[in-house]
Amino acid sequence: MSLNAWLSELNRILLVFVPCILIGLVTGHLPFFFILGLIIYGLWTARQLVTLKQWLDGDALVDDAPEYLGIADQHVSSIVDLQKEHQANKTKLENLITHYKEMISALPDAVVIMASSGEIKSANQAAHDLLQIDPSRDINTRITQLLRSPAFTDYFSAQNFDQPLEIRGSSDHEPELSVRIIPFGEGKLVLIAQDMSQSARIYEMRRSFISNASHELRTPLTVILGYLESLSMHQSLPDECNTAIKSAEVQAKRMKQLVEDLLTLSRLESTTSVVKDSEIIPVASLIVDVVEEAKLSTWFTSHEISTQLETDAMLKGDLQEIHSVISNLINNAVKHTEAGSTINVIWKLSDDEGLQFIVEDNGQGIAPVHIERLTERFYRVDAGRSREKGGTGLGLSIVKHILGRHEATLEIESKLGLGSAFICSFPAHRAVKNGNNSQ
Ligand code: ADP
Repeated sequence: MSLNAWLSELNRILLVFVPCILIGLVTGHLPFFFILGLIIYGLWTARQLVTLKQWLDGDALVDDAPEYLGIADQHVSSIVDLQKEHQANKTKLENLITHYKEMISALPDAVVIMASSGEIKSANQAAHDLLQIDPSRDINTRITQLLRSPAFTDYFSAQNFDQPLEIRGSSDHEPELSVRIIPFGEGKLVLIAQDMSQSARIYEMRRSFISNASHELRTPLTVILGYLESLSMHQSLPDECNTAIKSAEVQAKRMKQLVEDLLTLSRLESTTSVVKDSEIIPVASLIVDVVEEAKLSTWFTSHEISTQLETDAMLKGDLQEIHSVISNLINNAVKHTEAGSTINVIWKLSDDEGLQFIVEDNGQGIAPVHIERLTERFYRVDAGRSREKGGTGLGLSIVKHILGRHEATLEIESKLGLGSAFICSFPAHRAVKNGNNSQ
């Protein structure tokens, strides 16, 4: 309490008691007037306390702060200061919340805030447009009661939100969505849904353009190749012509391979569905056939290929597609390693009862920086060298798509100067052991 407050209080006491004492002395009734002074001072103090209590019991509004309360003045002014600070903070917070709400509602993506159980706490306008979630109607409703796609129900109950979920609309009018759930704070979730219909349409247009263009190129190329092949058999042509025809034939074959690979890739890209267990593939004998074919290839020189067929288990899948995987990986090992390299082709059971197809070589290997990107379309470590060897840069991309359709994975391990290993791992439920289904 400051000295000033005490001095002004003393002032008030003097103001009451001095006149009372003086009058008491003059009239000869000092005790009476002294008691009267005490009563006046007591009543005045009681009145101030009642005023203070009323102010505090109300909202203690800054504008209604009582004045001239004596020693309580300073407490009142501290409360007023605190109130002012509190009001300024409140306004700041309100502005922040308003900005945040405006920002969330301006987002083109649907944003839904939920409790960890999925109960909706708030949602923006886009959530209404894209997901038909009405913020005023659906508060505290579980998200799974509103987003009824089975894929979303599985995604939410698995509680593994590392990857986004793609939801295809069941009709042309329903948008294609990419849904992501991000945990935040304590037990809260934010769901962000993006309309992918436009990009899906563009992707589909691009895919069908490539597919149509490749299809259109296929027939003229076959005709050109036919003529070049019959011309190259003509004995009477001069040497320069023969060289030119040979070179044109090599390029036309390369182009045909490119067209075939593009058609395969766009066919694979047009379907995201998993291959049903339509065929039982004798992978071991397929490997033997492909190895024999690879030995006839132009790039097979003094390579050594060994096959390690550790199991006779078969695989449930698409024969043509699995042939393509085996052929791409074995031919890559032949194409991308130097003469004299050793290639090991393995077919075996994996530790988790699944199956593995592995192609290892002791070639020049691949630098780590390239490994992540090898399955991208047209990605090549050395484009010039790959082209020279008839490579299209699409082989590993095709392999990855096919494996995806067989619920399998591709791992690439490589060390520069030591060689590479391409490991395809198939799940146990695709294995058929001793002529029996493994399941
Ligand atoms: P390509 O038609 O060029 O073989 P792929 O998609 O099959 O296209 O392979 C992509 C690139 O990966 C190749 O260009 C090559 O640089 C590299 N590659 C693939 N297999 C091997 C391997 N066994 N050893 C070294 N590099 C490889």
